[in-house]
Amino acid sequence: MTQLYNSRKRILVTGGAGFLGSHLIDRLLDEGDEVVCVDNLFTGSKRNIDHLHGNPRFEFLRHDVCFPLYVEVDEIYNLACPASPIHYQHDPVQTTKTSVHGAINMLGLAKRLKCKILQASTSEVYGDPAVHPQIEEYWGHVNPIGPRSCYDEGKRCAETLFFDYHRQHDLKIKVMRIFNTYGPRMHPNDGRVVSNFIMQALKGEPLTIYGEGDQTRSFCYVDDLVDGMIRLMNSSDDITGPINIGNPVEFTIKELAKEILEKVKSKSSLVFVPLPLDDPKQRQPDISKAKELLNWHPKIQLNDGIKSTVSYFESFLDRAAN
Ligand code: NAD
Ligand code: UDP
Ligand code: UDP
Repeated sequence: MTQLYNSRKRILVTGGAGFLGSHLIDRLLDEGDEVVCVDNLFTGSKRNIDHLHGNPRFEFLRHDVCFPLYVEVDEIYNLACPASPIHYQHDPVQTTKTSVHGAINMLGLAKRLKCKILQASTSEVYGDPAVHPQIEEYWGHVNPIGPRSCYDEGKRCAETLFFDYHRQHDLKIKVMRIFNTYGPRMHPNDGRVVSNFIMQALKGEPLTIYGEGDQTRSFCYVDDLVDGMIRLMNSSDDITGPINIGNPVEFTIKELAKEILEKVKSKSSLVFVPLPLDDPKQRQPDISKAKELLNWHPKIQLNDGIKSTVSYFESFLDRAAN
């Protein structure tokens, strides 16, 4: 218990001013919990949590998880880490520090508090996968010294730390491997494919297809993802993960471009540019475990999710113009 006369849960969300973190916080507050949001605002924005100021159950702390943190909470969701290739490659050393030192500090905090902790891991731990679709037992195919390694290996090391704290200190852990997720509050300049294509289509600029556009991804809408994350946190203690959460419907990047052009009713052309180094050729989660253990499956189809994401970016551009 964090407070003598309060039966509500007090939950720490690191990276809470980011895309996924801010949606998670909205859901936790809707459920009646108290939330402490910790973020250094490296890629996140106060705009994502502006609507929460004044809510007595919400608290924001500007803090870098690479440094120790002493707060009193009942549960921890550890999301702090830049997620898009442009952002995590901007300062790769800091990216690894955030994943590794950040995990150590948050695990140390959870150990002192004897509380549950969930790690936002990633499909990138599978690298450029040789097993398709990806099952949790697959150990991955990751370049340890390339431009994506700061993120991929940082996240892999964080998973190692989670399982060692679990084995060595009996910590209650939940490791979630998140596959490409999209939706409102994605950063417009984060270089990810959904935000890039929608912004380009809205501005009438050519859509930049990297390589031939035959590489595949499976896109999960943010509301589905947050639902899976909360279900995992609330699952019984023996469910540690790692567990894949994502939408298994797979699209080529060219198909995604076509879908976005239709939704925006844009006449933008397609331009083909070189494929970045180590760009995974295919990605699709096997979500059998999430279905069986969490009774979770994604409900929102790309068609509907893209519509609300386009509306978000339209109002973002309107605000920027006024
Ligand atoms: P995001 O960049 O919008 O959010 C990350 C947040 O972490 C930002 O608010 C940022 O300011 C904060 N942050 C970064 N370094 C920090 C530090 N050292 N201390 C405190 N805060 C720090 O990204 P997102 O898409 O919301 O991703 C959230 C988490 O989910 C990340 O851990 C990411 O690796 C993971 N993930 C996301 C996706 C996806 O498709 N969005 C896929 C796989 C994994
Ligand atoms: N830590 C923290 N908050 C706490 C407890 C620990 O930030 O409430 C950090 C602290 O920096 C520590 C790290 O977590 O170095 C790991 O803690 P642990 O107890 O595992 O190891 P130790 O304290 O022995 O280094
Ligand atoms: N991509 C693209 N055009 C863009 C941005 C990305 O073709 O403007 C491709 C990228 O090469 C990758 C896929 O889209 O194959 C997904 O990229 P993103 O950065 O969104 O996610 P990740 O590579 O981390 O899965």
